[in-house]
Amino acid sequence: MGRVKQELKELIVSTGVEMIKTGITVGTWGNISYRDPETDYMYISPSGMDYMKVKTDHVVVMDLDLNIIEGEAEPSIEKHMHVAVYKARPDAHAVIHTHPTFSTVFGVAGLPLPAVSEDFVQIVGEEIAIASPYALPGTPELGEVAVKGLGKNGAVLLPGHGALIAAANMPMALKISTVLEKNAQIYLYAKLLGNGIRLFSREEIDAMQNFAKNHYGKKNQELV
Ligand code: 13P
Ligand code: ZN
Repeated sequence: MGRVKQELKELIVSTGVEMIKTGITVGTWGNISYRDPETDYMYISPSGMDYMKVKTDHVVVMDLDLNIIEGEAEPSIEKHMHVAVYKARPDAHAVIHTHPTFSTVFGVAGLPLPAVSEDFVQIVGEEIAIASPYALPGTPELGEVAVKGLGKNGAVLLPGHGALIAAANMPMALKISTVLEKNAQIYLYAKLLGNGIRLFSREEIDAMQNFAKNHYGKKNQELV
């Protein structure tokens, strides 16, 4: 059996607080997990608990077959969806599910969300899909459709529900969650102005993604 790490439980707790502070989810909805690259254990938030009251002891540690390794609390009902992402995406180590306002508008309206802001292009992709068909929360079916809609992207919209984000690490998953919501808000407001929408060209998208991947902030990261 692998070692259970207190610092990864702390990561789940602090990310929950951050989600509430940034307004990318509401109430006790949404959930967070992290897959330890060393043990492949998944650290997941407890079900239906106030994020401000969650303590490290409430974080549930499970293997990818959903056997409980450690934790007394009931794990998030979306454990199937989190595990489905980790099984399909070896590059993903952090998964966040949110109930955001503007991003959910697109899932409700059945419209995929195109990239209209540069930050979104750089870290999320050209467009994010809507998981289809609709599946009820907490079901293994939701995991299946979510993974299909996610593909190789950083996020997918869950119709009538919210968003699912997958990333290599937790800071990136949080960043994607907020940038996704910002992009949705901008797109919606721009649509309301009624003056047309400027979408990026293939070349612009490639150039920005290449820059973000290989250059942006890289040198200064050595300073911190
Ligand atoms: P949990 O509180 O069980 O994580 O569920 C919240 C949710 O968003 C279900 O989709
Ligand atoms: Zn949900």
